[in-house]
Amino acid sequence: MKSSWIAKSIAFDGKVRIIFMDNTYLLQEIFHRRTMSQVLKEALGRTVSAAGLIGGLLKDPQQMSLKIRASSAGLNIFAEADASGHVRGYLSEEWFQRPSEGLSLGQIIGSRGNIQVVQETGTNRMFTGITDMPYANITDDISHYYGQSEQTPTWVTVNICIDHQKQRVTSSRGVLAQLLPGADPGLMQQVQEAVDKCDFMLYPNQQHEASHELLLSPPGGGALLEIKPLHWYCECTKEMLSGLLLSLDPKELSNLVLQAEPAEVVCSHCGEKYVFSPIEIQNLLNTLQRRRTIP
Ligand SMILES: [Zn+2]
Repeated sequence: MKSSWIAKSIAFDGKVRIIFMDNTYLLQEIFHRRTMSQVLKEALGRTVSAAGLIGGLLKDPQQMSLKIRASSAGLNIFAEADASGHVRGYLSEEWFQRPSEGLSLGQIIGSRGNIQVVQETGTNRMFTGITDMPYANITDDISHYYGQSEQTPTWVTVNICIDHQKQRVTSSRGVLAQLLPGADPGLMQQVQEAVDKCDFMLYPNQQHEASHELLLSPPGGGALLEIKPLHWYCECTKEMLSGLLLSLDPKELSNLVLQAEPAEVVCSHCGEKYVFSPIEIQNLLNTLQRRRTIP
């Protein structure tokens, strides 16, 4: 399967919901869009993976967003996912303005990070929860968030393998397990042991074998209920980004037109580049001028 996917199952005698995910291709696409250090890849990869897994808990048309605030002001990581398998994630610009190469995940998050989760719980009802990040590694902090904020025993684990020489994600897999109401809290230990032992997480580079094994017999004796693709998605359009272009100094824009130079605007959420030709820039300036002259 040349796409990213999640699979949902109910296991351990109907007491645990388990979501499996392979988002290798999705992370490859994200890192292809923007160059970043190893530790930033790890941080963004984990956040996007966690959002993809949490998206597996939602029902159509619900969505959720995840915001990680590191200890230093302005250093944020965002990810969003919906029940249809759309996922996106990005880092605030501040991350790219300071060196991070050689640092660990714990060092870049620091001891005063926090996690904010905004999740739709029903029609038009949003639930916002914020917790601290005692583990400073994102995944364990999200498990901590569910225990603290929603009092639902939940465990999130991801395994992202990156070939740093080739600058490429070779594999990314994750699992989210959540106890259903009435389940003994001690059951989570068994779930973790079963998941840690399964080929899907142990041998992530064996793409087909491990997926096949998982789909035939998921750990915990459950059955798979649903498999669906995960897609990278950003709602940006050239029209939306034209507003950003117009926030620049009109003199600067007029100069570009005079010099017959195009302008490039990059969506900070997904890294997509939009090129505006001198004619398009002139048209935008004309529209702006008209708006200003109409009382
Ligand atoms: Zn975008």
